[in-house]
Amino acid sequence: MKKSTTLLLATVSAVLLAAAPARAALKVVATTQDLESLAKEVGGDKVETESLAKGYQDPHQVEPKPSFILKLNKADLLIVVGRELEIGWLPALINQARNPRIQAGADRYLDASNFAHILEIPTGQITRAMGDVHPLGNPHYWLDPENGKIIAREIADKLGELRPADKAGFSQRAAAFSSRVTEAEKRWLAMIAPYKGLKVVTYHRSFPNLAYRFGLNVIGYVEPRPGIPPTPQHTLDLINEMKAQNVKVMLIEPYFDLKTPNSIGRATGAEVLVMPPSVGGVKEITDYFKLFDYDLNLLMTALKKVGDAGTR
Ligand SMILES: [Zn+2]
Repeated sequence: MKKSTTLLLATVSAVLLAAAPARAALKVVATTQDLESLAKEVGGDKVETESLAKGYQDPHQVEPKPSFILKLNKADLLIVVGRELEIGWLPALINQARNPRIQAGADRYLDASNFAHILEIPTGQITRAMGDVHPLGNPHYWLDPENGKIIAREIADKLGELRPADKAGFSQRAAAFSSRVTEAEKRWLAMIAPYKGLKVVTYHRSFPNLAYRFGLNVIGYVEPRPGIPPTPQHTLDLINEMKAQNVKVMLIEPYFDLKTPNSIGRATGAEVLVMPPSVGGVKEITDYFKLFDYDLNLLMTALKKVGDAGTR
């Protein structure tokens, strides 16, 4: 080969290399905005993220849309909350997506609950006929920031598997995220510390991990069982229990009817707080950090009104 030809070839390849686009971002579909937020933290500009459920929707009951099937069809990775949270709507969508890589159990299907700290794992036999939508333990586990760190680590490992060249970068981003959570958690814990043991009632069992981390004591639920609407007798019993224990704070997820909670609030003098359990629950909650900022500030505002009622 002549020297000039070699030079020319070298020049052409250099130009081609320079012109070659960077590898396309991995298309990550998360079932919820919480998981999407964590995937963004870890993936940075190496991922393009989407979420199926919106944070203001009940994640147990999401209306499937044709656009979801399209997103799943193109997904390089699907991240699910798991513990059967999405069982009512996701399996059919996955079946229709014609993307074998993201089927349950396939290598591009990531169940974020694998290593998270899961509460309320039933010990006896639980069947769906009993109306319990949490048969594999509580699926709302992302509401403990320590679980957020664990999920981020999991996502980093999976992304690293899919893109070995970026593995170290994903690891670093997960570690940086984890440090930021540790810092924020100190602040959040300091805010809530004076109210340790605060008794609250929630509508659905959405907040056990939040309660566990921040020292709240959930003494009852507006729902008689997870997924079962309130009954007059249960409501009456709950009112009596709240009066007996001087409970002045109720946490209600944004997608539940406020009629029963408000009537309980009137009967007991408790503050009814509409508390989003997810990123995207209200427009201010744009990421995982803002979720805790928003919810804990909401709680603080109510506690300023009710004082230390229910903390002893
Ligand atoms: Zn639930």
